[in-house]
Amino acid sequence: MFQQLRLEVNDTVKKLEPKRKTSITFKAILFPCLYFLSYAAALLWGKNSFVLYTCYILMGLLLVINFLNLIHEAVHGTLFKNKRINNWYVHFFDLMGANSYIWKIRHIRLHHNYPNVMGWDSDFEQSEMARVFPHGHYSKMHKYQHIYLPFIYPLFLFNWLLIRDFKDFFNKNKIVWKVTDIPTIEYVKLFLFKGLFLFYTLVLPMLVLNISFAETLTAFLIMIFTASLVALIVLLTPHASIESEFPLPEEDLRMPSSWLVHQLSCTNDIKEDTWFTRFFMGCFNYHIAHHLFPSVHHVYYPEVTQVIEKFARKNNLPYRRFPITTSLKNHYKLLKANAFHENIFEETM
Ligand SMILES: [Zn+2]
Repeated sequence: MFQQLRLEVNDTVKKLEPKRKTSITFKAILFPCLYFLSYAAALLWGKNSFVLYTCYILMGLLLVINFLNLIHEAVHGTLFKNKRINNWYVHFFDLMGANSYIWKIRHIRLHHNYPNVMGWDSDFEQSEMARVFPHGHYSKMHKYQHIYLPFIYPLFLFNWLLIRDFKDFFNKNKIVWKVTDIPTIEYVKLFLFKGLFLFYTLVLPMLVLNISFAETLTAFLIMIFTASLVALIVLLTPHASIESEFPLPEEDLRMPSSWLVHQLSCTNDIKEDTWFTRFFMGCFNYHIAHHLFPSVHHVYYPEVTQVIEKFARKNNLPYRRFPITTSLKNHYKLLKANAFHENIFEETM
């Protein structure tokens, strides 16, 4: 059944390829340039703190734009035809502060293979403070998670870049260690790139512009907050929803439903589709197409999704799409639902 869908999708992509190919290369040059230009402008004119903060806000936005349009595609091997160029290109992510080696493991080996599966989907392996899975460990503070988590969300990238990456490298209980053994060279790269990132975002502007550490730190935090808020809208809405399933593997580690049904019941699309979401946000709203066809570049998703939707309707499979505001509400409802722990044993006693 899936084979039929695959053939139709391949056909659709082939037809669009001559028209869309150039926009892939265009973005791969434009977005990194804009990131470096924003930084250069900060170094040139950042003595005026308004200019400095504006440049860092732009860097925060461009971090997410580069991540969605380029890094994510390079990790899936769809940005360039040549595998080595893709592998080389992902180091741009390290330059922007996130470790690309560990993210590739988390994303390809864990998130794509086991979306929404507790103990395997590392996207949901967040801090102790959040209980996203209905069958997750419960502690008393989770009762208030729907109240305090939205306030902690602006620190999402601060945690990713400066805490979580290191935890994954040094704490062998982390999910990544189920599927990899980290080579020594990656530890060297981890420290080298993190040092470089902190040096050019925090220290160099201070030296070049002769401004205080408080000012560069403020700029840095503004960049992180901006990037976190945009990144979370994109990352939370397709999976972390009250409407999504959170299946558990059976005793023999097999999943209860087929791969196709699993992907469809754990993922939803977002209704909003504009030039902005297509050009700047890497078609994040077409997330089902990405999970079913991760080797297809996002510039083809709008048409690929039409094929998927038709296929789902014909075969009575779930295909779900919500407006962005509904999706955000669905995330809030998930946090609220998992804030309470129903202990059936207690009730019967
Ligand atoms: Zn992906």
